[in-house]
Amino acid sequence: MRVIVVCFLISFLALSCGDKKNGFSVDKIPDPMLHGGYVSNPDHIVSTSAEASLNALMSDLSAKGTAQVAVVLLKTIGDKVPKDIAHEIFRTWKPGQKEKNNGLVVLLVEDQHRIEFETGYGLEGDLPDVICFRIQQQKMLPFFKKNDYDEGMWQGMNAVADVLNHADSATVTANEPESPADETPENFEAVPDAPSRELPGDGIIFLYVFYVIISRICAGFFISKKDKRPFNDPPILYNPGIFSGLWIYVFPALEIVAVFLFTNYSFHWWSVPLIMYLNWLTYLLYRTILVHINANRLLNDNNRVQRYTGFSLAHKDLGIAAIVFPIPFFFYYKWHKARLDRLRSTVYSCDQCKNPMELLGNKNKKNYMSKGQLMEEKQGSVIYDVWSCKTCDTRKVLGYDSIYSNIAKCPKCSNKTLQATKKETVKRPTSRTKGQGLQYYECKFCGYTEKEAFVIGMLSSSDSSSGSSGSSSDSSSSSSSDSWGGGDSGGGGSGSSW
Ligand SMILES: [Zn+2]
Ligand SMILES: [Zn+2]
Repeated sequence: MRVIVVCFLISFLALSCGDKKNGFSVDKIPDPMLHGGYVSNPDHIVSTSAEASLNALMSDLSAKGTAQVAVVLLKTIGDKVPKDIAHEIFRTWKPGQKEKNNGLVVLLVEDQHRIEFETGYGLEGDLPDVICFRIQQQKMLPFFKKNDYDEGMWQGMNAVADVLNHADSATVTANEPESPADETPENFEAVPDAPSRELPGDGIIFLYVFYVIISRICAGFFISKKDKRPFNDPPILYNPGIFSGLWIYVFPALEIVAVFLFTNYSFHWWSVPLIMYLNWLTYLLYRTILVHINANRLLNDNNRVQRYTGFSLAHKDLGIAAIVFPIPFFFYYKWHKARLDRLRSTVYSCDQCKNPMELLGNKNKKNYMSKGQLMEEKQGSVIYDVWSCKTCDTRKVLGYDSIYSNIAKCPKCSNKTLQATKKETVKRPTSRTKGQGLQYYECKFCGYTEKEAFVIGMLSSSDSSSGSSGSSSDSSSSSSSDSWGGGDSGGGGSGSSW
């Protein structure tokens, strides 16, 4: 977590340092062609990888002789007008082949929330203003509004490339009327009018961290170091292993990636939480089925105490599931409780005379319990039922372990009365080394004590070399022999604000 926060701070500082409000002039914009590129991204408006993709796209257009595009992404141009700056960039760099005049300047000014296209004379036919405007509105602004400049620029420039490539194959040379209200599809068909596909944003990282934390709390995986296994030692009906961990913590990520890769699904704000919710639901269903398969296989049908404890342990966190997933777990929970009740309170018949036995009340039963059992019940680690046969004067003493108790079995007196007492730090952890501590235990029945060493995790450090500040973006384009061709702007193009 801390690392993420530090990354944010670094990128925030990097952004705010690049702010030079007044005295902006075009010759301060780094010319990408000096490195054989087409994208000038001095303020890191788009990521290095997005910049590389855009460069590759532009390089391809240029290589085909379709168009030469200069993309300029700036945080601010002071109080200058974006259209003027775009025009000035065009005049200064002169993109486009001289004979064809097929240059295009795309300028994004972040603080003015403005995107400008400035087309050369030769492109005005293939890329009329109305198409520029439509690409901006449909492909770019939806992402820009969410500060997703990477996706917005990528979608927009791809649409431009599509239009130009199709125009190149000489299908259309329509003279589009200037009014943007005219919706004739023209050669813009490749870019449908449907709202562009929504993808999960950056918030997904926080959502996922939140999900993992909540899942960690909900999953009853905190198995104590001390052996808390019940006396009657029922077989474990469900053992959360690596597969469970994968299912809970990793599957949602895989599911999100799969939806992204293999479907055309448009993400909504609730999509990812829904995936996470359904992931937990299916996991719990799987676990419930497995518990029942194992119960049939492993549990002794005649040992009701063992069945009781086995099912209790396997369904330790069923209460939470019943709240979070009322369907189907609320009903299952009710049924589970009724089953436990039946297992515990159905009348036993006497082993000797076969007559029905009687469950003794709290006061009466104490006469037949040992001192150790009394102490266990006082500590809350085991609860006892005493069944009595009046006919032949025999008793059946049944112990039910509390599945929520942290009290362990004492190795000396064998009662479940060994309690954790104080904790002691022997060696403090640092950011480099683990620490060590001692946990003390004391038996409340026989006074036996023991201590156990445990490891304290390293302090999390924020020293990591999070290179978010970027390494002077030299995403070298493939054809470095390129240069701006010397085209002329016709003053065409379009601009959009968000
Ligand atoms: Zn009897
Ligand atoms: Zn003891």
